[in-house]
Amino acid sequence: MEKVELSKFKRVKLASLPTELEEANRFSGSVRSDLNIYIKRDDNTGLALGGNKARKLEYLMADALEKGADVVLTTGGPQSNHARMTAAAAAKLGIKAVLVLRGKNSSPHQGNLLLDDLLGAELIFVDTDDYEDVYREMDRISDELAREGKTPYIIPVGGSTPLGALGYVNAFEEMIAQAEKEGIKVDYVVNAVGSGGTHAGLLVGSKLFHYDVEVIGISSREEREYFAKEISRIAGECSRLLGKDYEFPPEEIVVFDEYTGPGYGIPEERTLSAIKLLARTEGIILDPVYTGKAMAGLIDLARKNYFKPNSTVVFFHTGGAPANFEILVNRVKEEVSDWAKSKSTG
Ligand SMILES: *Cc1c(COP(=O)(O)O)cnc(C)c1O
Repeated sequence: MEKVELSKFKRVKLASLPTELEEANRFSGSVRSDLNIYIKRDDNTGLALGGNKARKLEYLMADALEKGADVVLTTGGPQSNHARMTAAAAAKLGIKAVLVLRGKNSSPHQGNLLLDDLLGAELIFVDTDDYEDVYREMDRISDELAREGKTPYIIPVGGSTPLGALGYVNAFEEMIAQAEKEGIKVDYVVNAVGSGGTHAGLLVGSKLFHYDVEVIGISSREEREYFAKEISRIAGECSRLLGKDYEFPPEEIVVFDEYTGPGYGIPEERTLSAIKLLARTEGIILDPVYTGKAMAGLIDLARKNYFKPNSTVVFFHTGGAPANFEILVNRVKEEVSDWAKSKSTG
């Protein structure tokens, strides 16, 4: 019955699904050996190097096409994975993408910006701290496009609308089917929170499919209270789309903001340590903006015994690796050259 409710929504195929639910034994062993940590490989959704936005875009782009859109506009920071994947989705569907990015242009373009160029997106930079300014500019461009006879469609930051969040209701269903096949019961799900749609979709999924799990978000930018409210709103509205009256009181939403570090997009030491630990135990690459921080959170919570003994934790790897090629360029190099120096003098 639940399946029917979810399947009545139009969806365009953009992601390679299902993504693997991969057991991370060597990693678990180096964090807390009684835990069974699995990685849900949403970094491998395809669509121009993958990530969580592919699932949301399957619903959002279907809506755009249904409304006759021939150009999509969206926003994010200069290293936005969402903007890159929106550009890829637009390319695949044969429409234009305009990315209105909050921040400064840089030269040369690296990481996601380089990919945006390859994907043929038009880039516009709005140098401001306030997303209100960016939305105003996006509306202005959209009106201009409409006057030129185009049909623009605006996707809000992160694709975190109630419709976009359906992608993670689906992902939750996919995960429990895989867990059942493996003969495991998932106790905790950990995800990096950027705009809240992923977390909201997972919460709705756990209710819709009657699966008892604690969904834990690790903030990449805002304070806990902000996301508790935001996720509560998106999850509630997403439930309504599905014809359900589920409520998600903000005080019941679990988001940690201790691992954000100095700010959005700025990794701290433990972010880098978490990235290196997963890379060197499992050969899996995280990112410095979202998943590296979320994994630093998972590691710290594990060591503080937040997770009950012998439990199963699924970490949603939401992607983002392209940003390593801008943000980590100098940091990892410095460390490697220190190491090389110690070898040559030691
Ligand atoms: C966008 C993004 C997130 C955050 O997802 P939201 O649904 O916006 O909270 C996490 N990780 C990566 C790599 C992302 O690009």
